[in-house]
Amino acid sequence: MGAPGSGKGTQASALAERYGIPAISTGDIFRANIKQGTELGQQVQAIIEAGEYVSDEITEAIVADRLGQDDCAHGFLLDGFPRTMSQVHFLDRYLQAESTGLDAVVSLQVNPDALVDRLLDRAQVEGRGDDTEDTIRRRMEVYAGQTAPLLYHYENQGILVEVDGTGTVEEVRQRMFAALDRQSVN
Ligand code: AMP
Repeated sequence: MGAPGSGKGTQASALAERYGIPAISTGDIFRANIKQGTELGQQVQAIIEAGEYVSDEITEAIVADRLGQDDCAHGFLLDGFPRTMSQVHFLDRYLQAESTGLDAVVSLQVNPDALVDRLLDRAQVEGRGDDTEDTIRRRMEVYAGQTAPLLYHYENQGILVEVDGTGTVEEVRQRMFAALDRQSVN
């Protein structure tokens, strides 16, 4: 978990590689559907470009479908999910039904001023439709209002791993690996 621009996607790939598990990014799934012009893509494009969240119903259905695929049988990493309390409960129920659970929830922490700069830089490189200044501001608000409070849920479960997300990609990666080792995640 982490605010927009905290480096979630980049670090998710590094973690997935380290543990030999798939990284599942709901944002990537939505973007791929938008690009391919699928019905789902058409449903979610305007919402994403406004910086709002896609409905829980749609997002949870996508995650359930993805987690049911064979490559998730021995573990997976979720990037950008859950983002609402409904999604947290959905995931808890889903994992309970599978007699499994989360080993850790990584929270990447970056000071908000640095985030806007990072996102505006990314806009130049990737050209994402939701990296405009207004949308970035809205995404920050939505994250702070709806997603940041979820960290308490995982803190109470004793699985929250907070990582300072400032510095180079490599520095953050090493910090995150060390924190997970301390938590005995393997
Ligand atoms: P991301 O690539 O994780 O920054 O996600 C990009 C956008 O996709 C978000 O700003 C949301 O509009 C949408 N999105 C991704 N994951 C979720 C989620 N778990 N719940 C609702 N909307 C999501």
